[in-house]
Amino acid sequence: MARNPGTRYAGICLVVIFSLSLLAGCTEPKPATGEADYDVIIVGAGLGGLSAAAHLASNSLKVLVLEQHSRVGGCATSFERGGFTFDASLHEMAGGGPGKKDRGLYQLLKACGVDRNVELYELPEFYRSIFPGVDIRLPNNWDGYKQALKEEWPDESAGIEKFHAICSATMDDLMSLKDLFRYRGLKAFALKALVPLRQSTFFTYKDKSLQDVLDECFTHEDIKAVVSQLWVYYGAPVPDQSALITLAATEAYLGDGIWHIKGTSQALSDAYAERIRELGGVIETGTLVTRVIMDNQIATGVKTATGKTYTARYIIANTDPYQLTFNLIGQEHFPQEYVKKLNDLRPANSLFGVYLGLNIDLKARGYTDTEIFYNPTTDTVALHDSMMKGDFTRGAVAITIYSNYGDPVYAPPGKSVVTLTGYSDYAFWPQEGAPYHALKEKKVDELVALAARVIPELAEAKYVAVKEGFTPRTLKRFTMNRDGIVYGFYLSPQQWEKIPNDTPVSNVYIASNWSQAWHGMASAQVNGWRAARLIMDREGIN
Ligand SMILES: Cc1cc2nc3c(=O)[nH]c(=O)nc-3n(C[C@H](O)[C@H](O)[C@H](O)COP(=O)(O)OP(=O)(O)OC[C@H]3O[C@@H](n4cnc5c(N)ncnc54)[C@H](O)[C@@H]3O)c2cc1C
Repeated sequence: MARNPGTRYAGICLVVIFSLSLLAGCTEPKPATGEADYDVIIVGAGLGGLSAAAHLASNSLKVLVLEQHSRVGGCATSFERGGFTFDASLHEMAGGGPGKKDRGLYQLLKACGVDRNVELYELPEFYRSIFPGVDIRLPNNWDGYKQALKEEWPDESAGIEKFHAICSATMDDLMSLKDLFRYRGLKAFALKALVPLRQSTFFTYKDKSLQDVLDECFTHEDIKAVVSQLWVYYGAPVPDQSALITLAATEAYLGDGIWHIKGTSQALSDAYAERIRELGGVIETGTLVTRVIMDNQIATGVKTATGKTYTARYIIANTDPYQLTFNLIGQEHFPQEYVKKLNDLRPANSLFGVYLGLNIDLKARGYTDTEIFYNPTTDTVALHDSMMKGDFTRGAVAITIYSNYGDPVYAPPGKSVVTLTGYSDYAFWPQEGAPYHALKEKKVDELVALAARVIPELAEAKYVAVKEGFTPRTLKRFTMNRDGIVYGFYLSPQQWEKIPNDTPVSNVYIASNWSQAWHGMASAQVNGWRAARLIMDREGIN
């Protein structure tokens, strides 16, 4: 790995840093403590909003969380059908749990006391990846992962070790930069100036695509396909995807463990809600926020669909930035460059999937995996484009066997729960009505037929007790994210920075998939912490 971009540059940087080293981060003053009902109102109780609220409440700030849905959690939720329980979204969570390296997410859960209300457990395997001519299972730790790859591709051993080293070094660099978002002015400038020296792996790969890294480490196309399989989680095909997310997430999964929540992801959302209430915070579900009230370029509160108003000194939006900017606040309150940036950034895709309850025990029939990816080709651009056009027969499918997770919550003994997931484009789906439902039914059967190439029982009507599809329209209805998008902005090398957690309205912050700590359940919680941290910095709370 390149570690030395030039001694002259280093010398200049060190002089700059030395002369600036005593300067503190420059934050804005805190808004006056007046007659506001709350210190902070959080719009949305997805994991980003809940995490922000829990960190603020555990630092004695008075919080109100308003959620339009009848339950907290956003994507992190579950539901029941026909005696089965379905996790609406979570397959695998990165970010750590008890007994591992204990960095990242688990530290945050402990910091706000949510760890006491929830049980995380490790999944036994990372994933099984199937391509034409390849069928491989990857264990949940680096040693096992590397051994499995080396057994299949012995001549790629050096590249496998190199890939591990790049992933670990990237994560170390990102961890060492984790507080950079808190600094402004000269301190931020000085830290950024040192990045090429101090975070040289991050600096080397930050503008590269995942394809660049794969080409640097491996020669055989099949191993590249297997190692990059989680592109299906990250929202862009391999040549178009920022290298950073796979590098960091692979290290997070294999270094810190692959986690799930006892009782489904709803249990994590409920644990946050319980902790927020224990700390005196208020959560109101079934409450749609329709407006952020502005006074002289400062947000002073929110208005709900029923006409109620609540005042606060700060607002955090767990919404997408389009709703925040264009509907809740109004673009006239934002600088033109911010509005232009929002309009110029490309959003990622949404998802299409099927929840299946089966009256047979898949494990007893030999299907012992938890997460299987079936890919009819290694060409991720072709797979991505087919799915986005609604041709699910030519896409990839993630097959998650929840009843193999070891948590009895999902299925009664002798039965199974499976979820199938692929990418989808909101524009493909007509308005809800008869044609939409007919199309959905047809596409559900297409996705089931694709997955049945791995598990034929999925397509046999006699085994299927529950079969329910979800589309980008379903996801939009439940989360209000634009076009049902679950990944925020498209994570290309040009867009990996997404948008910051602060906004041009000085007391309004964003904590969601769309902001800088990326998407996924762990990242959404980190985004929540970041928004809370920025407010705590202004309040002088350490
Ligand atoms: C099918 C599926 C599978 C997934 N699999 C995984 C996985 O395996 N691993 C992983 O890490 N991640 C996974 N994800 C992604 C993960 O679930 C999300 O990245 C994360 O939960 C997003 O959290 P969030 O807080 O940003 O937003 P959301 O969950 O979108 O929450 C936003 C909340 O704000 C509320 N809201 C919006 N506007 C308003 C308003 N005006 N007034 C009041 N409330 C409002 C919404 O109702 C919602 O509750 C998956 C997602 C889906 C859909």
